[in-house]
Amino acid sequence: MEENRIQKKDIASYSYEELISEMEKIGEKPFRGKQIFSWIHEKLADDFLKMTNLSGAFRKKLDCLYEVPKVQMVARQISKKDPTEKFLFELVDGSMIESVLMKYDYGNSVCISSQVGCRMGCRFCASAIGGLERNLMPSEMLGQVYQIQKLTGERISNVVIMGTGEPLDNYDNFLKFVRLLSDEHGLHISQRNITVSTCGIVPNMKRLAEERLQITLALSLHGSNQEKRKMLMPVAGRYELSEVMRACDYYFEKTGRRPTFEYSLVKGVNDGEEDARELIRLLRDRNCHLNLIPVNPVKERGFERPERKNALAFKNKLEKNGINVTIRREKGSDIDGACGQLRRRYADAKKER
Ligand code: SF4
Repeated sequence: MEENRIQKKDIASYSYEELISEMEKIGEKPFRGKQIFSWIHEKLADDFLKMTNLSGAFRKKLDCLYEVPKVQMVARQISKKDPTEKFLFELVDGSMIESVLMKYDYGNSVCISSQVGCRMGCRFCASAIGGLERNLMPSEMLGQVYQIQKLTGERISNVVIMGTGEPLDNYDNFLKFVRLLSDEHGLHISQRNITVSTCGIVPNMKRLAEERLQITLALSLHGSNQEKRKMLMPVAGRYELSEVMRACDYYFEKTGRRPTFEYSLVKGVNDGEEDARELIRLLRDRNCHLNLIPVNPVKERGFERPERKNALAFKNKLEKNGINVTIRREKGSDIDGACGQLRRRYADAKKER
């Protein structure tokens, strides 16, 4: 795996306390750390030149030692159907990542990527096609939220880590990102408004439970039994469904946060009568929520979305059996909706040039 090519120290990935002690290490007063943290994480400055209450000499010193890694927009697609926008960002090493802004009545939500590519290989996912290129730094995850807030001028209140990548495969950086995003000296997004999606990396789900954060854990379930899950998600070969479910229960026990289960509905693959029955058996005694997501077609994979009426019938069956379920409203289908699609299309176009 290629490492990120940031040459100077990544100052935007330091925690509040780390930044204060880092300033002391370079012979500066601790309050300098507080000032810089506020510039980066509250005022969203990505350049030392913009930090106008710091002296010119100090800004020069900072510039020699550190950088705020750039997350630069290269494409923006605005949906004509929904209040949804997709952004393609370029990182300092030329890597491309995608993020999505969705506007709801309750506020603006941003879906971010946690890795460049992904090695989990889920069959229905466009992000998995090229494999994993590298992990994102905390600053690069934050940069997606900060850039979207700056570009749109709209306050972001919710963040979901459900874009390209498996966040728990980039555990330490992901955890730091959550702490920075919810830090009271920064953007201060409530942990209750942050959702992390995992395909079920059991040891890290348990570690996360022990952190006792207030974020929501969303498990990508997608199959109602071990065999079906294994067929759709190679990671299921490593962790049995029963183990994954126990890890979800453990998360609930430690945090008091009800887990969410994500289930991509794929026509003829996991949307049948037996699938509904198994899902009911799996979830009915759990305090949880189930999101059904009619799959975004991925042409490389040949998966199709079930018809609306079939998806509704599937949902009704579950609901009648006491499952708390919603069909996630399809958003941005006209703007390369599935994560990874815009990035792939951009990469293909670059190759053809
Ligand atoms: S669905 Fe998520 S975990 Fe699975 S391959 Fe795609 S990005 Fe990775």
